[in-house]
Amino acid sequence: MEETKMNAQPIDSKIPEGPIAEKWTNYKAHQKLVNPANKRKLDIIVVGTGLAGASAAATLGEMGFNVLNFCIQDSPRRAHSIAAQGGINAAKNYQNDGDSVYRLFYDTVKGGDYRAREANVYRLAEVSNNIIDQCVAQGVPFAREYGGLLANRSFGGAQVSRTFYAKGQTGQQLLLGAYSSLNRMIHAGKVKSYNRYEMHDVVIIDGRARGIIAKNLVTGKLERFAAHAVVIATGGYGNTYFLSTNAMGCNCSAAMACYRHGAYFANPAYVQIHPTCIPVHGDKQSKLTLMSESLRNDGRIWVPKNIEDAKKLQAGQIKGSDIPEEERDYYLERRYPAFGNLVPRDVASRAAKERCDKGYGVNNTGKAVFLDFSEAINRLGIDVIRQRYGNLFDMYEEITDVNPGELANEINGVKYYNPMMIYPAIHYTMGGIWVDYELQTSIKGLFAIGECNFSDHGANRLGASALMQGLADGYFVLPYTIQNYLSDQITVPHFSTDTPEFDAAEKKVQANLDNLMSIKGKRSVDSIHKELGNVMWEYVGMARTKESLETALKKLKELRKEFETNLFIPGTQEGMNIELDKAFRLRDFITMGELIAYDALNRHESCGGHFREEHQTEEGEAKRDDENFFYVACWKYNGDDETAPTLIKEPLHYEAIKVQTRNYKS
Ligand SMILES: Cc1cc2nc3c(=O)[nH]c(=O)nc-3n(C[C@H](O)[C@H](O)[C@H](O)COP(=O)(O)OP(=O)(O)OC[C@H]3O[C@@H](n4cnc5c(N)ncnc54)[C@H](O)[C@@H]3O)c2cc1C
Repeated sequence: MEETKMNAQPIDSKIPEGPIAEKWTNYKAHQKLVNPANKRKLDIIVVGTGLAGASAAATLGEMGFNVLNFCIQDSPRRAHSIAAQGGINAAKNYQNDGDSVYRLFYDTVKGGDYRAREANVYRLAEVSNNIIDQCVAQGVPFAREYGGLLANRSFGGAQVSRTFYAKGQTGQQLLLGAYSSLNRMIHAGKVKSYNRYEMHDVVIIDGRARGIIAKNLVTGKLERFAAHAVVIATGGYGNTYFLSTNAMGCNCSAAMACYRHGAYFANPAYVQIHPTCIPVHGDKQSKLTLMSESLRNDGRIWVPKNIEDAKKLQAGQIKGSDIPEEERDYYLERRYPAFGNLVPRDVASRAAKERCDKGYGVNNTGKAVFLDFSEAINRLGIDVIRQRYGNLFDMYEEITDVNPGELANEINGVKYYNPMMIYPAIHYTMGGIWVDYELQTSIKGLFAIGECNFSDHGANRLGASALMQGLADGYFVLPYTIQNYLSDQITVPHFSTDTPEFDAAEKKVQANLDNLMSIKGKRSVDSIHKELGNVMWEYVGMARTKESLETALKKLKELRKEFETNLFIPGTQEGMNIELDKAFRLRDFITMGELIAYDALNRHESCGGHFREEHQTEEGEAKRDDENFFYVACWKYNGDDETAPTLIKEPLHYEAIKVQTRNYKS
């Protein structure tokens, strides 16, 4: 209780002249750069064509480097980034509502529960505005006001309106922009694009990343690629949980390959559970669908006040629209009056779970709450609401057969529309490959950008900040910082892949594939993956305890044994074999699951998306322990997947922001 009182820090809306701003400015002045004429002597591998990878590959090509760009899809345009619906943040202050670089910086650090690196976040906020200019110049069709100016909406954890969007397809439109730049560079011969290629290993020569081994997913053959530096932009590890909002192809194998070579993996326990997803509706499901956070601008989240009403809803005897206004508990507005429905995701997810655990869930499984547009439709009219969220309403209707824009009931003159049903689901991973301020991993010449690094979101990411980070890394940070590393590499000639290191790496990858094919057990990849997901959700999910995490580690060991002895992969290694590809990724998801559990077990505090039941306030809020856990947890591989990793701590230093307990109440 005492802790929540400490929160009244006023937000300075001016850019501070303090140490962080200076540090970045000075840093720029001392940055080493590669002479333009020398850039063509340097090759860079970029693995990934999501927003981070595509923007980096296009920009590096534009600068004159030779880029080799890989993705597992049949086209860069199909990267997971196209799933992003709601928008991208920037501190433009177009709404004149008091926004600033500092305010975006502050909100992001606070949203991350004070577990992000302060200087990185400042830089992110600083370049956010350039991203919007860059994308507008590419022709990204951001939503505009009637007068032609770019429109904004609000996302969680902010009291200003700073989210730029293109209907509910922001990721797709941004990726089309990046892709058009990428295509220009492919045409110019500066980027070579390798679609349907999967990186299986990174090749390290004399302690530096010098290439990759990739599988051609069409021919099934392994191929070698060499470069002066390798950039990993392969996205997050949310699919460790099997059911998530991530695309089916999202995987953590490239990150795990780097980890096995000694790249630290940072904060794996920080997994984001998004509050507004369509609830699980059966055990045959392989995918969960996000309903964008933007819906919380106008949608109000509620459950019945009365437990009897909840029971009737669960039994299917009444519908949400049968319950009048005065019988509804808008629990986020009640608990967090200052932010209401726009509290950050971790807070909203826990609040939904709390209501459902107490028996107030509104569907047959008791694991759903309502997201209701009645008030907004009555106020603004259905046309305005459809203009804002039309495609999301259609998506919801297609999946559930319920139209949230349809009038369902009228009680005492008040019109009630069908509410959506939502429940939290795994969505984003804040943890990732550890990188320094230059986005370089703990292996020289190996860089990580976008969702696959850990850098900017601390223990919880705010909505619309992933696209911002991916594009900041790809367009503005990496192309600049990588030159610090490359500036003394121009004397290193283009590499041959005919070296003992490439031989050994390819042999190891081949042995792994042979091993997977030789198991010849009885279980499909998906059945084991589903079991992994159940263990993760049950014991390493929204609420964690020492006991649950120890149980998870035990079960994951058993599951690895099951995978190694009872896996069945049909077909052969030649040509395309999707089951083999999935098995390759599943092996890494199991190791990733263990890593998440080890980290969660070590972190005896609750912060952001990591909630240890032992560490909560009387009101059920996350309780941090800054004295003992104010650090980035970096995990170092210990030689084989069976052995527990070693923890290395990177202490956090805050200079511009006062570390305090998060408050979204006042
Ligand atoms: C449903 C949904 C909605 C979202 N909405 C928003 C939003 O509105 N705003 C926001 O800011 N964020 C949003 N996010 C988060 C955001 O979309 C992602 O964090 C972001 O797009 C990640 O981009 P990325 O480039 O890092 O990775 P990805 O887009 O995941 O791309 C990964 C790339 O790596 C490649 N790859 C992976 N493994 C290999 C390998 N082994 N070898 C070769 N290539 C490989 C893939 O082919 C792909 O090209 C949303 C996420 C989801 C799931």
